Amino acid sequence: MHYIVLDLEWNQPMTFRGGGYRAAQGKLLFEMLQIGAVRLNDRLEVCDSFNQLIQPSCYFRIHPHIKRITHISEDDIADAPLFTEAYTSFCHWCGEDSVLLTWGCDDISVFEQNIHYFGCEQPLPRVYDAQQYFSLLIDSPKERKSLKAAMEYYQIDPSETKEFHNAVNDAYYTALVFAHMPEPDKVLNYPLKARSLVHQDRRKKTTLSVHRASRGPAAVIKTQFAQQLPCPVCGKLSALAAGYVKQGADRYAALAQCPSHGLYYGRLRFFTDDNKQRQAERVTTLIEEQNSAYVSTKLLQWQNKLKVQEDEKAAKKLAREEKKKERQDRQAE
Ligand SMILES: [Zn+2]
Repeated sequence: MHYIVLDLEWNQPMTFRGGGYRAAQGKLLFEMLQIGAVRLNDRLEVCDSFNQLIQPSCYFRIHPHIKRITHISEDDIADAPLFTEAYTSFCHWCGEDSVLLTWGCDDISVFEQNIHYFGCEQPLPRVYDAQQYFSLLIDSPKERKSLKAAMEYYQIDPSETKEFHNAVNDAYYTALVFAHMPEPDKVLNYPLKARSLVHQDRRKKTTLSVHRASRGPAAVIKTQFAQQLPCPVCGKLSALAAGYVKQGADRYAALAQCPSHGLYYGRLRFFTDDNKQRQAERVTTLIEEQNSAYVSTKLLQWQNKLKVQEDEKAAKKLAREEKKKERQDRQAE
């Protein structure tokens, strides 16, 4: 038996309310753009690779988010084989006696949906979750660590010539992580099943609530009202995944993540009501895109925003302190 590590890149419709998505009858949330895979030998070394771009049949424009992340352009895939052909050659390359490994269950869910949508009959080899095994190895079974975090954990440096978010490179990095895991065959205890992918209409997925805010935004932000946000789908409270960023006068936003429904915004708006009381209105909204690539990019962007905001605050504080010191020095003279 051989291990094959798999990673995919995929596209999404420009909007889930447009003709493209409706033409697919809501049965293709993401259309695959690239299959990347590496085969491991008995010593768990990479001995072969598979890299195939796919020509789209449904979503012909690549969503800007996806373009930014994958660097795949419409031109790159214009002459590539269609899904059915790409899938057939992938199955052929896998051969008989192999099992697939992926990092988390997103790839397999997208893969199965594409296989089903395009009416392919050949089944995929069995699939196992290296991410879940890693979570157990680091004693944090509920956490889903990113591939990058796992590489850092095993002190694996990314190669300058192998950018992330290219399917075959990510498969290669997953293979390196896998080879570092103690008792790697234990990954076979973590079989993966595809989840069905359906679009959740975010227009309906919001919660709204109002809270007295007489002590001002800074005080409200510290309360449970702002720190524990209800998931817009199931209402379950989650702590912040990324803290509050000021978005304008009286407006703040943070991110939280529901284990079942994904990433959502929590927005606070401060206003004065008819009785001249200061109030905080809290709205939580599910983010439309929930693929892992999008979610991790979003969290990263948010961390950067927070850092910029903190740096600005620190710079202002420093300036104030310097002025105060100048005044004191002058008075002392
Ligand atoms: Zn939820």
